Amino acid sequence: MGGVMTHSIRWKRPRFNALSYLVFALVLVLGLLNPAHAYAELSDKALRNIPSGAPDLDPKTGSLLAPILIPRVPGTPGSAAVQHHFVDFFVRELPGWRVEWHNSTSKTPATGDTDVHFTNLILTRDPLWAQIGDVGRLALVAHYDSLYRPEGFIGATDSAAPCAMLMQVARGVDEALTQKWEAMEASGDAGMGLEEEKGVQIIFLDGEEAWVSWTATDSIYGARALAETWESEVHPPLSTYRTPLDSINLFLLLDLLGTADPHVPSYFSTTHWAYQGIAKIEARMRKLGLLVSNPKNAFLPDSEKTADQFRGAFVQDDHVPFMMRGVDVLHIIPTPFPLVWHTMDDNAEHLDPGTVADWAKIVTAFAAEWLELDEFVSQLNPSTEKQAIRDRTEL
Ligand SMILES: [Zn+2]
Repeated sequence: MGGVMTHSIRWKRPRFNALSYLVFALVLVLGLLNPAHAYAELSDKALRNIPSGAPDLDPKTGSLLAPILIPRVPGTPGSAAVQHHFVDFFVRELPGWRVEWHNSTSKTPATGDTDVHFTNLILTRDPLWAQIGDVGRLALVAHYDSLYRPEGFIGATDSAAPCAMLMQVARGVDEALTQKWEAMEASGDAGMGLEEEKGVQIIFLDGEEAWVSWTATDSIYGARALAETWESEVHPPLSTYRTPLDSINLFLLLDLLGTADPHVPSYFSTTHWAYQGIAKIEARMRKLGLLVSNPKNAFLPDSEKTADQFRGAFVQDDHVPFMMRGVDVLHIIPTPFPLVWHTMDDNAEHLDPGTVADWAKIVTAFAAEWLELDEFVSQLNPSTEKQAIRDRTEL
């Protein structure tokens, strides 16, 4: 993570083709006729059914988080072990997610003439009937690499815990998503273009950290390469979205999360609507007694921020190459950074388990809301989930 800088950003307009205008007009008309088509908040019942995955996110014993708490410098065995941890999890527990690797190489100021290999891992779940260029996605993003120096650095908040949270988010929406899509297929709505096709993507990025000190070329190696690739891959003609980059409706980046009392501002006026959405979920979950942490202030306290209060200050991170290409970004990163930032103390001992579990719950609810899963999450039987967790622990 780099320092705070000021920058003026120009936003690209989304590209639409004639067909998508027609579909859009149709959806608009249907939306006006039937308010149920509008983006809706999750009900209290659905919020209560959002799993936290707390046991699996425990820093010491959690099956999702503990294996990531090792040094993960790009190109090292630790990095490969964590990649396997991610892929094993998806193959074993979430086989409906498409697994994609994105490789690139670069020299770094610390490694001289040697090419370092950077490996991004992308997990995608789209409606089975949808053409690849027609799916708009919520991209949930964190970097899994750890700092090169000091040697042995763990990066528990930076960004092992956010990676584990995203594994839990994927698991937390998977069953409801399956049920929603099965219901759409059963009713004949699937592929009729009545609703925008919505998918979800987890992106684990490599090479976020600078090897020597943060510059435009010594940082975010994986993100820069991926944004470039996805900008140049063109979908078939008549696709709703021109490229995989355009397919990202919202790039939600988690970073430096897991210590107690985070203060996460709203950085961008263009995505303040999304910030307000996730902040409201936090507030509602606290009021309903669904969160376990007890912070002095809300994690996300900036909902009332007004348009004139956005000064263009933001934190340099993996979103930059995407944002520069017009992608909408919601950056969930605390300012100030955790006190342990880039020190040997950024380890399991300094994570707050309640805060980690609560973030997973809040982001899962946000994803469920974005994917319009309300009635399907409401119908989930949480005792099934608890039983499933028990079964897994017994293995
Ligand atoms: Zn860092």
